[in-house]
Amino acid sequence: MAYEVPPLPYAYDALEPVIDAETMALHHDRHHRAYVDALNKALEGHPDLQGKAIEALLRDLDAVPEAIRQAVRNNGGGHANHQMFWKIIQPGGAKRPSGAMAQAFNEAFGSFDAFKARFEEAGAKHFGSGWVFLVTHPGGQGLEILTLPNQDSVLPLKRPALLANDLWEHAYYLKHRNRRADYLKAWWEVVNWATVGDRLDAIRSGQEARLGGPAR
Ligand code: MN
Repeated sequence: MAYEVPPLPYAYDALEPVIDAETMALHHDRHHRAYVDALNKALEGHPDLQGKAIEALLRDLDAVPEAIRQAVRNNGGGHANHQMFWKIIQPGGAKRPSGAMAQAFNEAFGSFDAFKARFEEAGAKHFGSGWVFLVTHPGGQGLEILTLPNQDSVLPLKRPALLANDLWEHAYYLKHRNRRADYLKAWWEVVNWATVGDRLDAIRSGQEARLGGPAR
């Protein structure tokens, strides 16, 4: 069985003007596809690994033979990160966190607005390509912002992600050109806070498995 790019759950132009339709089409159909194709190629001849959910594959990179471990880390991470990204950004979603998610921001950062400023700053300061994540701990207590290079996933770190933004130029360059900070600021407009809150609820209730979406 091969890993697959899940269909984008909305139209390419649904996130205009923050993310333009051409960027969405290239990003989803070409960039995400390339990671999935390279992952499948790396795993040829490894049916035991091909049968794993992407989350399980990345949580246990040590089980991957050294000859293909870096390819799996890069391309499997690219698959997992983008699969989460398409779900977190949604047209017409909740514009602000509520309930437990809002409370968690107040406890960890003082306020939701203070969190947003810290997240933007971390993303803007990260040198080169990578991702900026909002993570919690297993069990869902405590929040922390971290950045990782390339397509590294938080899954090997055992730190569940609630939210992530893509810092690669392919995510923003057509529309925002070199102005990463502008992209980071505008991006909040397309985050669906209901989805992010659901992720926290799932982690706190021990139902992380349902964050994975399609099994493949
Ligand atoms: Mn990307």
